[in-house]
Amino acid sequence: MLIMETSVADGRQDGLKTVARRAGIKLTHQRLEIFRAIAATDQHPDAETVWRIVRAQIPTLSLATVYRTLWLLADVGLVSTVVPGGDRVRFDANLDPHAHYVCIRCGLTRDLAAPDDGLRRISEQASSFGSVVATAIQVRGICERCGGADSGGLAPGDRAGS
Ligand SMILES: [Zn+2]
Ligand SMILES: [Zn+2]
Repeated sequence: MLIMETSVADGRQDGLKTVARRAGIKLTHQRLEIFRAIAATDQHPDAETVWRIVRAQIPTLSLATVYRTLWLLADVGLVSTVVPGGDRVRFDANLDPHAHYVCIRCGLTRDLAAPDDGLRRISEQASSFGSVVATAIQVRGICERCGGADSGGLAPGDRAGS
């Protein structure tokens, strides 16, 4: 996994503490470690990947706890979710408005910088149909590893992603 600069992860962790206090969520050691695992990467891990990372520190941690914690964090807006289509939900601690590049074969998910006003204008248009909970823009393709860069090579059987 690509580990980001600690300053970014630290900043996200400060946000966690503030929001958790406001939402009345107890920041247990487990929850903190789970959040830290997401905040430290830009690879949009799914729950199982987060579980594998955090289990190194907390061997007794169950996958069910990881799921519950991730959805709790999503409910209070500390992480957002990305669904790369037919694949497992992935979690994202990057709360700045952005779009995603998603590989339709392995589920690889990467951030794309999107102009703020572009996303806002799409949300505004959508609000004529009803309320807007989240705006997600996805560019789908086949990543280099899955053969998207050369002449349409076949996908390797690996769907583990990240
Ligand atoms: Zn791929
Ligand atoms: Zn993202």
